Amino acid sequence: MNRILIVEDEPRIVSFLKKGLQANGFATGTATNAKEAISMVQTHQFDLMLLDLGLADEKDGFTVLEELRGQGEQIPIIILTARDEVGDKVQGFDLGANDYVTKPFRFEELLARVRVRIREYNSSSKQSSNQYEKILSFNNIVLDLSTRKAKVGSEHVELSAREFLLAETFFRHPGQVMSREQLLDRVWGYDYDPGSNIVDVYVGYLRKKLGSKLIETVRGMGYRLRTNSK
Ligand code: CA
Repeated sequence: MNRILIVEDEPRIVSFLKKGLQANGFATGTATNAKEAISMVQTHQFDLMLLDLGLADEKDGFTVLEELRGQGEQIPIIILTARDEVGDKVQGFDLGANDYVTKPFRFEELLARVRVRIREYNSSSKQSSNQYEKILSFNNIVLDLSTRKAKVGSEHVELSAREFLLAETFFRHPGQVMSREQLLDRVWGYDYDPGSNIVDVYVGYLRKKLGSKLIETVRGMGYRLRTNSK
C-alpha cells in the first residue's frame, strides 16, 4: 500500500484529500505544520508528500522542502497551494518539488499526478538503491520480493500478503527493536487502530511458519529479529 503524507492546515481540505486518497487505495498521514511534517517524514515511511505552502506555524511549505532536500530526502513532493504566482512555482521547483498543483484543483487530476510521481520514484529507487533488492535472506530463510514467496531451507512456506510484508519489515531491520506502532504503521497503514493486537497475532503466525525463535519479544518495547541465537 502506498502511503501519502498530507501536509495541510485547512481541516476541510485535509478531510477531502484523506477520503479521496483512501477511497483510491492509499494510506494517509497528516501534518498541519512544517515541524510536524519534517519529523513525520523522518520517522515514518511515506511514498509521497502533498505539501501546502501556507501552514499552521511560522514556517511555510518552502521551508519543509528546503529542509528535507537539504537532508538528502528523496520523497516525491507535490506542492498543493492556492498560490498561483509564477514566482512561487519557480521557487518550489528550485527547492526540489516534483510537481505543483494549484487550488482549486480536480481530484482526478491530482490523483493522476500522485500515481505518476510514485511510479517514477519507485522505478528510480529500484535502479539506484539496494533497498529494493529482489531477495532478502536471514539465516536459512529467504524472502523473494518479486514473487512474494518465502522459503525456509528448501521448503516453500505460504505467507499471506500481510505476513510477507511483516516478515519483510523485520528482515530489513535485523536486530533492531520495532515497536508495535512502527509495525502497524508499515504493514497496516498509518490510520490503523493503535489499540489493536493485530501485530501480536501476526508475529505469532510468523513464528509458527518461519521458526519459533526468529522474532524475539522485547518487553515493553516491541519485537526484533533475533540476530544471535541464544
Ligand atoms: Ca494553508
